[in-house]
Amino acid sequence: MAKHIRCGHLFDGVSDDAKTDQTIVVDGGTITYAGNGAVAPKPGPRDEIVDASKYFVMPGMTDLHTHLSYGNAMCEEDIDIYASVELRALRGVINAQRVLMAGVTSMGDPGGSARVQTSVRNAINAGMFPGPRINCSGPYVTSRQGLTDYYPTWFGAPSTSIGALVKNMDEAIELIRSQIKDGVDFVKFAMDGRHVNDKGELIAAFSLAETKRMVDECHRLGKKTVMHARGREATLYCAKAGADLIFHASWADAECIDAIVKHKSIVCPTLTLLYQNMTVTQPTDPLYHKVRPDLGSKEWEAAIVSLNRIREAGIPMVTGSEAGFALTPYGEWHWREVEIFHKFLGFTPAAAIRAATSASAAFLNDGERLGAIKAGNHADFIVFDGNPLKNVSLLLEKARLKDVYLAGEPVRIELPPLASKGVSDFSYKMWQDMYTQLRVKALGNKIRHIQAAE
Ligand SMILES: [Zn+2]
Repeated sequence: MAKHIRCGHLFDGVSDDAKTDQTIVVDGGTITYAGNGAVAPKPGPRDEIVDASKYFVMPGMTDLHTHLSYGNAMCEEDIDIYASVELRALRGVINAQRVLMAGVTSMGDPGGSARVQTSVRNAINAGMFPGPRINCSGPYVTSRQGLTDYYPTWFGAPSTSIGALVKNMDEAIELIRSQIKDGVDFVKFAMDGRHVNDKGELIAAFSLAETKRMVDECHRLGKKTVMHARGREATLYCAKAGADLIFHASWADAECIDAIVKHKSIVCPTLTLLYQNMTVTQPTDPLYHKVRPDLGSKEWEAAIVSLNRIREAGIPMVTGSEAGFALTPYGEWHWREVEIFHKFLGFTPAAAIRAATSASAAFLNDGERLGAIKAGNHADFIVFDGNPLKNVSLLLEKARLKDVYLAGEPVRIELPPLASKGVSDFSYKMWQDMYTQLRVKALGNKIRHIQAAE
């Protein structure tokens, strides 16, 4: 039994414009026809007809930067310590469903705890739970100076941490081989360090020779590499080492851009987290004081310049939202990145949506059959009320998303509301301040009094 979906507008994920009065025919999860409705194959007596003639149909989004193990974390300890890996995996299943229900039919998870990502992916692939198509890495490969090695040397990286600390190249190669044996789709590296040089630039967590050695080993074993690199040096080393995908590249200079072009990396800006930080954090949030919008953000300003140059250099750019933080909860802000590509990075609406569909999907396994609506591809698409080619911001309006199709079937999942508490089993912040006598006196009438018993 085939399905014939009659589309008011159809944007195929690769063109410059949408076409009207189109039909998609789906059989067995695959698109068998997509084009002019007037000359589409005629439905057979047992075929199903879906009337989406009032709606705009386009490929589901591919979000290459969603962290399923983070659990809408409020702090780094939330991410690394408080929840057991078992709870993270269970939580990851439902959070993957939230991602899917937002119209994200494929995603990349570049870094998380233990084997949470591969387990969620495998459970979904085995048909135990509905969920988006997932490609993922294991914990970030990091050094003593790297992002994700947050704790004192006498702790190292806890076993629940999203980072796996390597102390030398032998350990790095052993870790890469273990992760690949455990079934990761790509290997994630924490390339930004946590120290700055005398020019105030971040120092990369690994040397260029080390980066090259590790990337070469991944490639020798047939796996791609994905890199966290905001700083100039980390970005340069990633590109020179031939990394497949670079996240952020906020401080990429001309030398970095030349190396990215030469070694054919792609760039995933993932500006959504920074944007949210600048626009929605409140004075009670510790980060507010670092990213107050009225003070501007040095990184935002640098990134907009660098990423526009990256686009002008013709480097493929793909989308990610960094979902998994309390600031970017699952299922909420994935489409923000498309809006940012259009508003700040010089993409037309069609180009921004192509980045979030066909361009991002191409990075995944089986990517040539994802992210575009054409015969032979997987039937993953969304039915939308409104024309995002006229206004990409509409994509953020949840009520407009009428249906999400995955492998030709509409996805219907009842999800419990997002809870702001209880995402981690022990995590809570007790106080934001130190209440000395001086501090309490300064609070004046903000102090509450208890009546004495009579
Ligand atoms: Zn990330």
